[in-house]
Amino acid sequence: MGAVASQVWPLLLFTGVLTGAALLWMIRSGDAVPAAMAWMLLAKPALLGLLVPFALHESAHVLVLRRIPTVTHIALERTGWRTSVVPAGTMTGRQTALVALAGPLVCVAVGAVLWLTSFDRALSWWYLAHLAFLLPVFGDGRALWFGSRQRLTHTPDAS
Ligand SMILES: [Zn+2]
Repeated sequence: MGAVASQVWPLLLFTGVLTGAALLWMIRSGDAVPAAMAWMLLAKPALLGLLVPFALHESAHVLVLRRIPTVTHIALERTGWRTSVVPAGTMTGRQTALVALAGPLVCVAVGAVLWLTSFDRALSWWYLAHLAFLLPVFGDGRALWFGSRQRLTHTPDAS
């Protein structure tokens, strides 16, 4: 969670400043509309749409990795704005694919529940969008499609 928060801090700062300004405005003027808009358009998507799903995504990779006995060490590596889960040890192609699938699919599952229950359909898209990480342009997608052909040199990322 901390790693994810540190990746998206400019957005969080922007969100915090605007939400704070809207709250101040509400206290001074009694007008709650800007505060409600800041929550709906900024604070809620930033927290529930970005931070939470990415933390969930990363955690799912780590949870699956922990169940593989030949993975000896799991590190979080931060490069720029991305965080990657970097396992050490060996994995079969099937295990690599499973680890890669776990992150995006757990988010898609939550998104599907949010959508199907009509709990929050706008929010559900932030979770469903994680399916895109299975495209080969992303680390997870590459690990899924090509993982069986290589050893543990490239890792599923959690960005
Ligand atoms: Zn991932």
